[in-house]
Amino acid sequence: MKHREHSYRNGVAGRRLVTRPGVGSPSATAFLHCSRCPHEGSLKLSVRMPPEQIDKKFTQAGWALDPHICPGCRSKANERKAMSAKPSPDAMRAQAQMFHLLQTHFDPNKGAFADGWDDKRVAADTGLSETVVTEYRETCFGKLKEPEEVAALRSDIAALEKLQQESNASFLAEIATLKKQMGVLSAKWVF
Ligand SMILES: [Zn+2]
Repeated sequence: MKHREHSYRNGVAGRRLVTRPGVGSPSATAFLHCSRCPHEGSLKLSVRMPPEQIDKKFTQAGWALDPHICPGCRSKANERKAMSAKPSPDAMRAQAQMFHLLQTHFDPNKGAFADGWDDKRVAADTGLSETVVTEYRETCFGKLKEPEEVAALRSDIAALEKLQQESNASFLAEIATLKKQMGVLSAKWVF
């Protein structure tokens, strides 16, 4: 039978084992050294556990082995990877198409789309979400500006509404005055 080295017991390859003789069952703690930071992971286990099984336990706890990378260093590495990840070719094509459509159908000076075009249609044509298109357009091409006719109508409406409220208030004041006069007069006619 081939004798295999117990890497933990022999303290090799970044592994070590500390055994504590106890009453009843002796306990052991296996240690694993992270190759990227000073962290040393530990696992309590039974003394007789083979090294492969201890390795497996560390893997289950989120470690990468040989080289050993602790769960903390692994998630940091994953974050960096995600941040520098390149967009997929499909995503790049969709973005290029969006850029082209906006350049063709959106006038940044007028802040307006050509007839029949809007963020929604660009989103539909490129497969991107409308939110993405709107954000991109506002950042790279500019915000939508209201057409002059619409802006003029909006200010006319606001002025009329204000006038209506003011007139209403003066009518109410007039009515109140008349009622008061009527009150005074009727008091005179009561016997
Ligand atoms: Zn680490």
